[in-house]
Amino acid sequence: ATPGAIGSGETALTTLMHEGGHAAHFANVVQPSPMFSQERAPMSVAYAENQSMVLDSLCGDAAWLARYARDADDKPMPFEVVEKALRDSKPYAVLALRGMIAVPYFEKALYELPDEEVTPARVMALADEVEAKVQGGLSPRPLLSVPHLLSDEASCYYHGYVLAEMAVWQTRKHFKDKYGYLVDNPQVGADLSEVYWHPGNSESFLSLVQKLTGTPLSSDAWVEELQEDLEGCVERERAEYEAAIAKGPAVASADVDLDMRMLLAHGDLVIADTEKDGGFEGAAAKFKKWLDTEYEGNA
Ligand SMILES: [Zn+2]
Repeated sequence: ATPGAIGSGETALTTLMHEGGHAAHFANVVQPSPMFSQERAPMSVAYAENQSMVLDSLCGDAAWLARYARDADDKPMPFEVVEKALRDSKPYAVLALRGMIAVPYFEKALYELPDEEVTPARVMALADEVEAKVQGGLSPRPLLSVPHLLSDEASCYYHGYVLAEMAVWQTRKHFKDKYGYLVDNPQVGADLSEVYWHPGNSESFLSLVQKLTGTPLSSDAWVEELQEDLEGCVERERAEYEAAIAKGPAVASADVDLDMRMLLAHGDLVIADTEKDGGFEGAAAKFKKWLDTEYEGNA
């Protein structure tokens, strides 16, 4: 995150949760060989990304925001702000789906082009055609700006993201039906580690999803989410927000013990050190002060 750049914290946080999901998965593969936890075949993109996207999906939940999104005075994000974000984004969620599926549809069309048609002009025109067909017009994120298309090891990656997103909504629905809620529910963590994490590459993506949710992978839960009525959604999120607020903040920094030494550094400059600055809380406070007073743009 770049402190002071509006929105950068949210992107950084979602990325942290996403990569944290990959880390939780790979660190919890319980199999007799490291081959079971490598991010190469037989592990698929959909398999790997399902693990991370389940975790980062929590960042949009009012129940998660109520417990984790705290301001400098440790006050939770007010529901009015959560509600505004919902009202501003929920009606357009299908546009994100269209933007996502446009990428694999473009790749399919590209790789099906006869060799003699593979020219810069034709490829650019093809991207425009797919945007018009799938997204209803030229996209604010032009297809040819998607970096995955350009590097060989990431080509066709978006097809995996789409399958993973289907699994994310199916997984979330399963937990909501089974346990009533997701955020900070220890039963959810136990099921994730036992069914999704432990097997590593001894199971394939489709069988993992079926084992956890009891049904074959489908887009039903994602479509259901997109079709949820806005007013109903706001009321449901409000109830989940209030229940989470009643539980209080999830993390009090005084209680954090990382069981490790942490250095907070900016290039060569060491700003704070958990060993010298009074543990996590002291180091975090020192770093926070540095951001407020010294970091370029804030000084
Ligand atoms: Zn990922």
